[in-house]
Order: sequence, then structure tokens, then C-alpha cells
Amino acid sequence: MYPLVSRFAVFALVAMILSLATISYSFWDFSIRRLTEATEANNKQLAQVLSNALPQQITEYVLAAKASSPDVQLLREGAPTIDAPLLQLIQGLPILKIKLYAPNGLTVYSSNLNDIGSSKAKSAVFQAVIRSGVEYSNTSFRDHFQSFEGPVAERWLIETYLPIKLGDGTISWVFELYSDVTKERAQIFDHTVQLVGSVTVVFVLLYICLVAFSKGCSKVMAHQYEELSQARKSAEIANRSKSEFLATMSHELRTPLTSALGGLKLIDGLHADKLPEEVKKLVDLAIRNNESLLRLVNELLDFEKVLSGRFSVICQPHDIAAITARVVSENKGYALTQGVSFDLIPPDRPCWAKVDEHRLEQVLNNLLSNAAKFSHEGGHVLVEVSNLRERVQVQVKDKGIGIPERLQKAIFEPFTQVEDVTTRRHKGTGLGLPICKFLVEAMDGEIQMESVEGLGSNFRIVFPRIDEIPSAKVA
Ligand code: ADP
Repeated sequence: MYPLVSRFAVFALVAMILSLATISYSFWDFSIRRLTEATEANNKQLAQVLSNALPQQITEYVLAAKASSPDVQLLREGAPTIDAPLLQLIQGLPILKIKLYAPNGLTVYSSNLNDIGSSKAKSAVFQAVIRSGVEYSNTSFRDHFQSFEGPVAERWLIETYLPIKLGDGTISWVFELYSDVTKERAQIFDHTVQLVGSVTVVFVLLYICLVAFSKGCSKVMAHQYEELSQARKSAEIANRSKSEFLATMSHELRTPLTSALGGLKLIDGLHADKLPEEVKKLVDLAIRNNESLLRLVNELLDFEKVLSGRFSVICQPHDIAAITARVVSENKGYALTQGVSFDLIPPDRPCWAKVDEHRLEQVLNNLLSNAAKFSHEGGHVLVEVSNLRERVQVQVKDKGIGIPERLQKAIFEPFTQVEDVTTRRHKGTGLGLPICKFLVEAMDGEIQMESVEGLGSNFRIVFPRIDEIPSAKVA
């Protein structure tokens, strides 16, 4: 039901099991290391005490063992004489066995008589201790072990080798003490189990709380998601209604506007000389207002089509220079009303590209009317068509008011206008350039703009050039 919660639950469970394993292993490892260190320290002290407390005859006994051919029988006979003081010293301590080695590895004393005379020389650990002069401990488990009190079973032992040095630093002999740590290990094991138990309880409680909490969050999120989906659906419905309303309204406005404009132009064309001056002025004003209203309605309709994805272009090979020349000539009248002139620089040869003729006209109309609209009175707008290497380019350059740098990035966004709505001198919707950009890109082209505030603007459109000129079109 809540995939997020179940994923979170699995993740939390795995994390907790891993943490539990890490905590218990760390605790166990730390405790065992502490036990080994503590036992080694005790054994070290004990070895020192033992060596200090050894009576003279033991020293002699050991020195005798250093001879090149030791008398093992003599050592075995002498051993019991040092058993008693040794056992007394280690009374109450968990020492199971003591061995004493000569530096050459000969076992000169052992609480187990049978070991006396055997050699430790081949033991790598013994050799390492002799070489380094440093004590060494290791832990082992023994099923059976011959302690000085007799055989014992199943014991954990820490064996410590302890070199005893003379005043000049040479090793006089090496003790090996076997400490029984079975009880301590069992205690550490019990403590580890207790720790695992307590941490498990804490983790289980934490886990229950976390899962409950995440379930709660998930419910809230699901609720919010539901609300958002509803809001989105409502917004989509509202947007659709708005688009439909915009489309219907624009459409309904366009028909009467077109016929009113047609009528007014007819009156102006046929009866201009018969009209009183006052009436003629009113008719001209009505024509101009009708034209801008019609342009606005058309832009709204186009923009609505772009938004709803109902805009399509049908591209065919066309001579871009010819289309541009026609649009420039059609816009000359408008330029005159703005006190501006258009200068066309045609290419040296035809430039062909695949475009939608009417849509390209629409783009050029918009760029030319903007250039005229935002030029200073008496200004010249340069319209240049050129063949680039693989592209065809049309540039519309004016020396008008220019576009401030802060607005240049947003100029192809809907409703971006340089002039404030309250102080605006030029009519417009702020939709022309976004529609141009959409149309140019739909025709596989690009539109770019360079502008310097106060100096003018250059709008460039480029399309991929086609080399082969279809013969039908040339004819
Ligand atoms: P409209 O001209 O209808 O406002 P456009 O999208 O064609 O909408 O242009 C948006 C804005 O970009 C304009 O209002 C104007 O501020 C700025 N603009 C466009 N072309 C030019 C230009 N050639 N020179 C200066 N400003 C321009």
C-alpha cells in the first residue's frame, strides 16, 4: 500500500542488523583485547617476581642447563625443589602451567616434568621473542591440558612468553606462563549477549516508532498528492476552458473585424475624394484601429494554438530572398507612417530553404513592424538576405531604441515588453516574438537577437540551405 514505507522499513531493518552486528563484534573484540593485555601485564609482573624470588640453587640449576650437554636427568630431579616456592607464589592466580627455557630453547623447567629436556628452538614465536627481547601472547583453546594440578579439559588459555634479561640486556631465560581465561571469556560472552539483547530491544522499539512515523508521513503525503492531483486537474480544466474561450472569442471577433475593415477600406478607396475632410480623417483612424485590433486578435489566436499544441507548419522549398523582398515592399506603407524607410540588401543569388511561406511572412512582418515601430523618426531599417555556407540568413537591423541588457534574455518569452504598460507609446501584445521563435524553430530554423540599448537591434533568422533548386519553382 505504501511502497515508500516498505522500502524505508527494509532499509531501516538492514541498517539496524548491520549496526547490531558491528556493535556486538566491536564490543567482543575490544573486551578480548583488553583481557589479553591485562593478562599479559599480570604475567609480566609475575615473571619478574618469580625470577627475582628464585633462590640461588634455581639459578645454578638453570645455568647448568645452558651447558652444551645438559643433564636432563639432573634437571628433572632438581625440578621438584623449585615446584614448591613457585606454586606458593602463584597461589590463587589462574596460572595453569609454568615453563622456563634457556636462550637456546631447552626446556629447563616445567611444572609438567615430562616437558623438561624438550627443545623450543624450532618455535617461530620463541625465536621471535629471543630476537626482539619483547614479550608475546597468544590465545588458544585446549580440549585437554596437562596443568600442574593434573589434567584439565576445555580451557581457553593465554600463553605468554616473557624474556628475563640480565643487567647488560642479554636474555638469561624465558618464562612461558599459561593463564586460564575460560571464566573471563565466558563473562565477556555473557556481557556481549546482554548487550545484543538490550540493543535489539532499543532497535525494535526505534524501528516500530520509525515505521509508524513514516506511515504517518506517507499518509499525509498521499493525501497531499491527492489534493495536488485534484488541483492540477482543476487547473487543466480551467486552462482548457480559458483556451477554448480565447479561441472562440478571437474567432468570433475576427469575422466582424475583417468585414468592418473591408468595408472601411472600400469607402476609403472608392469614395475618398467625395468624403468631407473630417469624415476621411475618422475613416483613416478607424482603419488603423481596426488593423491593430485584427493583428492583436490574430496574435492571440496564434498564441493559443501554440500553447495547445495545435500549431502546424507545412514546409516546402522557397526562395527566401523573394519572400523577404515581397514582405519588405508590403510593409513600406507602415514604415512610412512611422517616418522610417526600409533598405533591402538582396543576396547575389537566390537562397533556397524549406519553409512554410505564410508563416515566414508572418515572422518577417513582425520583425519589420517592430523595427519600424522602435526606430527613431527618419531612421533606416536594413533588411539583408545572405547565403551562408550551409544556411540562409535574413537580418533586420535597426538603429532604434534598442533593448536593455536585463531584458534581452526574456525577449522571446511571452508578454515581455521593454516599455512600461503605463508609459507605453507603442501598441503591442508582447506575443509577436514568442510566436516568431516558435514558428522559426518549427521550420527547423533559429532566431537570434543582438541589441544595444539606445543604439539599435539586429534580429537574425537562419534556416538550413537547400542546394538543389526545384526546377518547377525556378520556372
Ligand atoms: P509587441 O511588439 O507586440 O509588443 P513583440 O513580442 O513583437 O511584441 O515584442 C516584444 C517587445 O520587444 C516589444 O514590446 C519591444 O519592447 C521589444 N522589441 C521588439 N523588437 C524590438 C526592436 N527592434 N527594437 C527595440 N525593441 C524591440
